[in-house]
Order: sequence, then structure tokens, then C-alpha cells
Amino acid sequence: MAGNMDRNAKALQEAWRREENTLCADCKKPDPDWASYTLGVFLCFDCAGIHRNLSGISKVKSIRMDCWEEGQIEFLMQHGNAKAKAKYEAHVPFYYYHPVHTDCLVLREQWIRAKYERNEFMKPGKQSPYSNGLKEGILWKRGRDNGQYLLRRFLLSEREGCLKYFTKQDAKEPKVAIKIDTINAVFQPEKTGNPNGLQITYLKDNKTRNIFVYHEDGQEIVDWFNAIRAAQFHYLKVAFPVASDQELRNRLTRNFLKEGYMEKTGPRQKEAFKKRWFTLDHRRLMYFKDPLDAFAKGEVFVGSREQGYSVMEGLPAGTQGSFTWQHGITIITPDREYLFTCETERDQQEWMTAFWHVIKQPMTPQEYAIEAYFKLRP
Ligand SMILES: [Zn+2]
Repeated sequence: MAGNMDRNAKALQEAWRREENTLCADCKKPDPDWASYTLGVFLCFDCAGIHRNLSGISKVKSIRMDCWEEGQIEFLMQHGNAKAKAKYEAHVPFYYYHPVHTDCLVLREQWIRAKYERNEFMKPGKQSPYSNGLKEGILWKRGRDNGQYLLRRFLLSEREGCLKYFTKQDAKEPKVAIKIDTINAVFQPEKTGNPNGLQITYLKDNKTRNIFVYHEDGQEIVDWFNAIRAAQFHYLKVAFPVASDQELRNRLTRNFLKEGYMEKTGPRQKEAFKKRWFTLDHRRLMYFKDPLDAFAKGEVFVGSREQGYSVMEGLPAGTQGSFTWQHGITIITPDREYLFTCETERDQQEWMTAFWHVIKQPMTPQEYAIEAYFKLRP
């Protein structure tokens, strides 16, 4: 009996330590220590928790804490993350967003449900809710003035290269038509207080606008998100025929590099510092009075070191404006200096890291064009 148990424990360890099983099968978090013995995958604790809700499809156990039967171990030995990926992710479209462990729950849960519950990627042609270049539906949209959510009809058209929404259900003319290549979409459960809350930003006259939407159904909102990515991908493929698919994927929706409150002073650097909500979306640093405002109060272009941009810890000596927070940051651009303060040292360090990440990268031709727009502004 004891010999049998030893053999089992050894077999389980052997499967677990295989190279292919060193990252979670669903979110790529290192050192997964749970496994599904009906799907044959190794999972992190959080993904195992989601698998628990796939009743009848996935059964999970802790590698370290649970007892394993011989048949279950045998199944894990014969399967594992590489085989599961080949089966369940065979036809994931190139533009499709693969969530990682830092992503919000709705993205991670729908990815897992799409893979194992809906078998969405096992055969080609099952991705039509987001892949056919046209999506229409009703979403809750946050009202600009009173913050109340109202039902609005949305229409995404790859052929027209735009996302539209309509105030009246039967309206012919959209309230807004957004060009597909200017859109960014980011899930914002915390900021919106809704687990399915999605922030869509876009450019109008080269200024950033925000809308906030959600759908009660997690699958529907994630389908919208991937439909936007699909339409962008196909649009960019036509616009930049020589660019590689990888290059184009980098230009689809992207997470903000950092968001949070800082204080800022005005251009004369004598004004009292005011608390504002900041969002760093790649090279655009936007600030808002309220995190859910539709319009940025201002935007700063953050270029590259070669173009004379840099960031320094602290404020220039003799800064006159009064401020409450003690951890200063100075952003230097070819035109002026921007002065900010953070509440904590940790915040300050995170912002500095985010700014350096952008400044260290050389600018692309498109970014030179954006910089020029910023310079033309009054
Ligand atoms: Zn995971």
C-alpha cells in the first residue's frame, strides 16, 4: 500500500514538474499548484476557482493539499498544458485578447468559459459573435452629465471603419461615430464599480473622449471587446499592408500604463496644486477632475529621451505653488516642465517607472505626427 502511494506521489510530481506545466494553463501565472483532472491542465489558485464553476466540465484539486487517485494522476500524466492548448486553443484568432493573471475577473472567466465550456476555439468558424466585422447590440452607457446609465444601441462596422451609438432605438443618425483606429478599450471594474464595466476612449479633433459602458452578461461585454479588436486588426491590415501581424497586434486595445490621483500646478508654476485623476495611455498623459469624466481637462504628450523628454524625482528648487502631497515628480518636455506631487512614495516610484518606460522607447513615425498635433495646440 505504502509503495503504491509513493509511486502515485512520484508520478504526480513528475507530471507537475514538466516544463509545459510551469505556467498556469489559462493565465500563465508561474508555479501553478492546482490541476483539473477532467481537463488535464495545471492551474493557479485563481483560475482553479473559476474552473470550480464549470460544473460537469472541470474538476479541480490542489496538488499539495488534496488526495489524488491513481486514475486522476494517470490522466494528468497523459495530458498536461501543452496538449490542452493544442486542443482548446487551436483556433484562437490572432487579435483575440489572451488574459493574464493581473487582468480583471470578467476577462479571465470568459476566456476559460470560451475555451472549455463553449469550445469556441476548437474549430474554425465558431468565433462569429466578434469575428465577422459587424456587431450590433444594446449596452448600458453612462450619461455624460448625471452619471446615470442608459440603454443605447451600438453598431460596430468594420467596412465603415467605425463604432457608432444611437440615442434613440430607431434613430438613423448616430449620436457619435467613432473611427475604429482611434479607439482604445479597457475593462475598469474598480473605477466604474461594475464587474463588466468597459471604458472606451477615442480621439475627436485629436482630443481624448471617454465613454463608459457595460452589459450584465460577461460573455457579451467580452465579445464586444474582442469585436473591437477584430475590426481594428482588419482595418490596420488594409491600412498597413507591409506591417507584420505582430506589429499590428501591438496597436490594438492596450491597458493603461498607470492611473491614479496626483496633484498638479499650472504653467506658471505659482498656482496652487490641484488634485486630479491621471491616466497614462502610452504616450498620452491625460488628467480629469473626476475619474469618470467624459473629457480630459488636459493632455500632455510624453515623447522620447532623444526628443528631449525626461522625468525627474522631486520638484524644482523654489517651487511656489502650495501643495499637500510631498512626493514630487517633474516631467520635462521640449516646451515646458510639468510639476506633480504624489500622496505616497510608492505612487511616486510607480509613476516614475511608467514615465521612464515610455520615454526610453524611440518614437514611431505615427507618434511624431501626434507630437506635432500637440505642438500646434493653442
Ligand atoms: Zn491562472
